[in-house]
Amino acid sequence: MTTFILPDTLKPRDGRFGCGPSKIRPQAIKRLAAEADTLLGTSHRQARVRNEVGRLAEGIRTLFSLPDGYEVLFTVGGATAFWDAAAYGLVHERSRHYVFGEFSSKFASVTAKAPWLQNPDVVDAPVGTAPTLSVVADCDVQAITHNETSTGAMLAPARLDQTLVVVDATSGAGGLPVDIAHTDVYYFSLQKGFASEGGLTVAILSPKAIERIEKIAHSGRYIPEFFNLSVALDNSRKHQTYNTLSISTVFLAAEQVAWQLDTFGSLEGVVDAQRKKAAVLYDWADRTAYTTPFVQSAEHRSLVVGTIDIDDAIRADDINATLRENGILDTDPYRKLGRNQLRVGMFPAVDTADVEAYTHCVDAVVEHLQ
Ligand SMILES: *Cc1c(COP(=O)(O)O)cnc(C)c1O
Repeated sequence: MTTFILPDTLKPRDGRFGCGPSKIRPQAIKRLAAEADTLLGTSHRQARVRNEVGRLAEGIRTLFSLPDGYEVLFTVGGATAFWDAAAYGLVHERSRHYVFGEFSSKFASVTAKAPWLQNPDVVDAPVGTAPTLSVVADCDVQAITHNETSTGAMLAPARLDQTLVVVDATSGAGGLPVDIAHTDVYYFSLQKGFASEGGLTVAILSPKAIERIEKIAHSGRYIPEFFNLSVALDNSRKHQTYNTLSISTVFLAAEQVAWQLDTFGSLEGVVDAQRKKAAVLYDWADRTAYTTPFVQSAEHRSLVVGTIDIDDAIRADDINATLRENGILDTDPYRKLGRNQLRVGMFPAVDTADVEAYTHCVDAVVEHLQ
């Protein structure tokens, strides 16, 4: 089969639409290259690297308008490692989990397997929908996923009572609206909304979360040092991490936060731009005969990860294969979801014009395939 070649005039300027790792702005890579000689391959215990960690923490503090007493924590290992750290150091006895896709289910399975915890309380919602938050008396953590990356459904975090609100914001952070005062732990990796690389977790902690961490850390529970959030907090306060972090991850994320603030002024500004960008995709999917937004309720349609079902007469795999041959990458559906679908990363680093160009390219490919 010969390749169908899309004309350059139709194609997006940048072909990266993955949901993690996601597009990194070329300007940030250039800045990294320009500073690399004095930064990469140097000690993370010295001021040069620690200043970058501090710059990232300060940027996050500004972007999320942190209330008094909130602190920025860094741990190595990404959100997946953070689930274990949370099972060791944040859940006292029992957690409540809202499960509506693969990522939210993974944290629930971590606490289910932890022998020192009671079986978690799990509220399930069908994929493509978002669950309703509710009060639960015998749980000490409410585990919420801000954006279910596997399905493209978003769920606004809320504080219902005194229970610790712990939010996996790995794909949502920096692109979805949030009032941090309604959360106790808002944690995320940096390779999605923050246009950086993997391996580091940022967790924004409330004073109550810090109290919980210190209480459990000193309760006698066995906690491996790597997962110990109290150790991580001590290090973070010195702009360090317990073990070696990826310096490029820190630098690129700090660049992205600075760019978001320069370009959009505030998180609200970013979110406004995200609404317009997402509308380009969903409006196209609504008006196009062979496409339907997977998430029915407009309120839960993600502003950062768009999932679009394709009519059964056309194979989404064929669309994606042709797009890939043209340098338009990674809009495959989440494998385990098993749908005939396109999943489009529309994180803040992705240009609205490129999302629009993407829809034109899909139209052209479908016309060719039929
Ligand atoms: C990608 C993702 C994760 C996993 O992140 P890692 O950095 O790979 O551990 C967890 N939760 C959500 C919501 C994600 O999108």
